[in-house]
Amino acid sequence: MRDNMTKSALSHKAERFTESVIREMTRLAQIHGAVNLAQGFPDFEAPKEIKEAACQAIMADINQYAITWGSKSFRNAIAAKAGQHMGLEVDPEREITVTCGSTEAMIATLLAVVNPGDEVIIFEPFYENYGPDTILSGAIPRFVPLRPPDWTFDLEELERAFTSRTRAIIINTPNNPTGKVFSRQELQDIADLCRKWDVLAITDEIYEHIVYDGHVHTPIVTLDGMRDRTITINALSKTYSVTGWRVGFVIASPQLTQGIRKVHDFLTVGAPAPLQEAGARALAMPRGYYTELAAGYQRKRDLLLHALRAAGFDCSTPYGAYYIMAGFGALSPLNDTDFTRYLVKDIGIAVVPGSSFFHEPERGSGYVRFCFCKKDSTLQSASERLQRIHLNQ
Ligand code: GLN
Repeated sequence: MRDNMTKSALSHKAERFTESVIREMTRLAQIHGAVNLAQGFPDFEAPKEIKEAACQAIMADINQYAITWGSKSFRNAIAAKAGQHMGLEVDPEREITVTCGSTEAMIATLLAVVNPGDEVIIFEPFYENYGPDTILSGAIPRFVPLRPPDWTFDLEELERAFTSRTRAIIINTPNNPTGKVFSRQELQDIADLCRKWDVLAITDEIYEHIVYDGHVHTPIVTLDGMRDRTITINALSKTYSVTGWRVGFVIASPQLTQGIRKVHDFLTVGAPAPLQEAGARALAMPRGYYTELAAGYQRKRDLLLHALRAAGFDCSTPYGAYYIMAGFGALSPLNDTDFTRYLVKDIGIAVVPGSSFFHEPERGSGYVRFCFCKKDSTLQSASERLQRIHLNQ
């Protein structure tokens, strides 16, 4: 017989957020046999040389814990790549923490640097995880809107969000879900405010290599005075199409890294050891790999963008990452959750309801998010299904 518990089963924190809608949509896609354009993971193969490196590492018996903050070979590779691609000198012994994906990187960072009650500025729409991350770390989120069609922010509005209680600002560029690539000037403005208010910049740059139409990704850490107040988060997931490997990393000053490493150690001990070896191989890929990655995704973006516009969606062109925020006001009077349900059940396409990216659901109720990190054949099949929306109206 099961005992009836009288105290509330969950903590106040756990009660304040729901399960991830992004991840739930993948499960729904499977149930309905829908094309999954919801959760952002590739359905095509990862680079052969990286998979081989992972297999070799396992066969070489790299099967026990790596050093908690990351295997030396992987940290060296991260430092080398930061030098080559960002022109940043990073000490692999004191400034890098390897984590279980960028998801752990973000929560470990917030738990390490934020005190309950500290304010954290978040641009909205934002990647879903940042909401629960602030709750778990006790931070008070202050949202600053990014407005379509360019998803720009108003500098005065941003200035007003900074106070003496602000501890950090979370930046995600190239941006999920909007596809915005923050300009150098925008990042300069953010950096100026961070210095003025003594605030940390926590920057999620997981889509750093996925930029289009000549747009350039600027790491905020490279701007004047930002070296020691920036925490840069990244992962193998998107750049090398291995989202299930769960290997991410954080670059930060030795002082910040010390705290992040402690939290990380007690959260997960370490990221998968053999996959870190493969990660060292991945980070040594030649420059051409990244150019091709971006060019391939730009083609996929064009394919889906064209199909969405032809079907009557209102979308601004994403200049980075692999998502499209699509307004469906001209197509349906439903709200985003009901429209998503209709798409997955009746049209056979899984997407993410726009409200998942806003703190007040109404703000996202006119949008759904499509991802295009898929085989051309998957995107084509989605395009065909999209045409049925008209037939159904
Ligand atoms: N970043 C991906 C997305 O936004 C998913 C990441 C995840 O589910 N961990 O869809």
